[in-house]
Amino acid sequence: MATTVYDVIIVGGGPAGLTAAVYTARKTLNVLLITRDIGGQALYSLDVENYMGYQFISGQDLMDRFSEQVEQYHVERTFAEVKTVAKEDDATLTVLTDKNEQHRARTVIVATGKKSRTLDAKGIETYVGRGVSYCATCDAPLFVDQDVVVIGGGNSAFTAAYELTSIARKVCLVNRGPWRADEIYREKIQDATNVEQIVGYELIEVKGNDVVTEAVFRNRADRSLKTLPVAGVFVEIGLIPNSDLVKDLVHLNEMNEIIVSSHCATNVPGVFAAGDVTTVPEKQIIVAAGEGAKAAISAYKYLLSGGEHIS
Ligand SMILES: Cc1cc2nc3c(=O)[nH]c(=O)nc-3n(C[C@H](O)[C@H](O)[C@H](O)COP(=O)(O)OP(=O)(O)OC[C@H]3O[C@@H](n4cnc5c(N)ncnc54)[C@H](O)[C@@H]3O)c2cc1C
Repeated sequence: MATTVYDVIIVGGGPAGLTAAVYTARKTLNVLLITRDIGGQALYSLDVENYMGYQFISGQDLMDRFSEQVEQYHVERTFAEVKTVAKEDDATLTVLTDKNEQHRARTVIVATGKKSRTLDAKGIETYVGRGVSYCATCDAPLFVDQDVVVIGGGNSAFTAAYELTSIARKVCLVNRGPWRADEIYREKIQDATNVEQIVGYELIEVKGNDVVTEAVFRNRADRSLKTLPVAGVFVEIGLIPNSDLVKDLVHLNEMNEIIVSSHCATNVPGVFAAGDVTTVPEKQIIVAAGEGAKAAISAYKYLLSGGEHIS
């Protein structure tokens, strides 16, 4: 059993977690940041145009700046995946990682964000990394002058299609239902000559040899099949919250988001949450960063008050 009892353990190194780290460290709290990576989903954004102070910055550069700011303060960091957060007693929480390390703290801020939703189609798992991708920003450069399909109808799908228009020969954007993306994302690809938009089809199989060669779709109305010869299949069908680690501890909503108050408090005293993993509306970097700041201040006030529940 770990002997150090931190004031705060922050789980997650995205915009929310890194901001919470700066805010808690500036209150001279004893802070441990546990994360799988530094930057989170923001790393997947090639061009962030809506973070105040920067007219344009890549997600990677923005997160490098967040990280540099954290490094100005005394924040212990460890790279691991947190499996569970649990109550040891009324004053102490325990955090267990995939490396079987147990850490203890008086408060925990959960800032674990979201991850890509996967698709259940024949062959899809077989070809992950061999043509099937869940990250256009990471993998688009592998498909120079090749034909690709992007699956999905929301902002992520349109962002992926937009990134691919300047790299791939042809981009097919396919969705089973109507388009759901905001107008600003849809406008980005409307002038591209190498994009085809298809609705009413669902992916049923990915075929290939060593790598992907075809994607097979079924029409949802008449059940007819359509085969697209493609080298890449980008799955962009939305995100799900990384809330498993606290599913037995705090209240979640029907979408498995952590229910938080306007102070980022959960129903469990000492457990706070911030950013995309929570019920806060609008999943954006600037919102996540602001929520991280709020969660940190709430944790600080909770500690100052000697453990008075903030709701
Ligand atoms: C392709 C794409 C483009 C986007 N473009 C924009 C944009 O232009 N502008 C904008 O404002 N927003 C954009 N967003 C949304 C934005 O990236 C998110 O709203 C923001 O990153 C959320 O921050 P977060 O800190 O809450 O979570 P995340 O960024 O998801 O960070 C979560 C962190 O927690 C870690 N983690 C997760 N589970 C565990 C665990 N069990 N143990 C340890 N660590 C864990 C992760 O590794 C990660 O470091 C985009 C998102 C995507 C996917």
